[in-house]
Amino acid sequence: MRFESIEQMNSKLILCTRCPRIVKFRVEVADRRSRFLGEKFWSKPVPGFGSIDSSLLILGLAPAATGGNRTGRVFTGDKSASFLFSCLYAVGLSNKADSTSRDDGLKLDQLYTTAVLKCVPPGDKPLPDELENCRDYREFEIENMKNLRVVLALGKIAFDTFKGYLKGKGFDVSEMQFKHGVGYRVGKIQFYGSYHPSPRNVNTGRLTREQFINVLQEIKDNFLS
Ligand code: SF4
Repeated sequence: MRFESIEQMNSKLILCTRCPRIVKFRVEVADRRSRFLGEKFWSKPVPGFGSIDSSLLILGLAPAATGGNRTGRVFTGDKSASFLFSCLYAVGLSNKADSTSRDDGLKLDQLYTTAVLKCVPPGDKPLPDELENCRDYREFEIENMKNLRVVLALGKIAFDTFKGYLKGKGFDVSEMQFKHGVGYRVGKIQFYGSYHPSPRNVNTGRLTREQFINVLQEIKDNFLS
């Protein structure tokens, strides 16, 4: 499907029902999270957040069940969001150290955030055909980032999905291997990978605040103003 603008794409995106398994799950999961009983969940596809004119793209996996799927804004309202924004704030890429709701006054600097899959999948594990169904939305976003200089993929699925995008554009991606802090030059874009700031990675010490800030600081010092 071709879109005319990001705004027009988002107006279509939030109505999307292409993936039957996910459409069912994104609604049902709201009823299972007793911590939020009585709260109306967004339970729809979640658009990107930030200016599409930014130089840095942070690419996550998908909205979290009680994060983006609850609040309607990507990386908002869950522990991954709190970790991510505490680090973004530390290096001056956001005006607040947390992301809690769509009306919290959060602003991003030189940064656009989105996910490779726009709805929460069961078990945070999208099926290949679901990632394929969502391809035209994410690729339209990427191709509308006319000032894009740096991509930071959070986790292996986001990394491999962006790698697949680059391969589709004719770049040699055969040497690209996901690991934390890895960086590759691809044409005009610097492509980084990081462990996802999920509670599982943070609580086990797989991803520390220092490690994550180091990647953000390297990006800021070398590629942003
Ligand atoms: S995951 Fe993407 S393609 Fe599937 S229903 Fe959500 S927005 Fe549509």
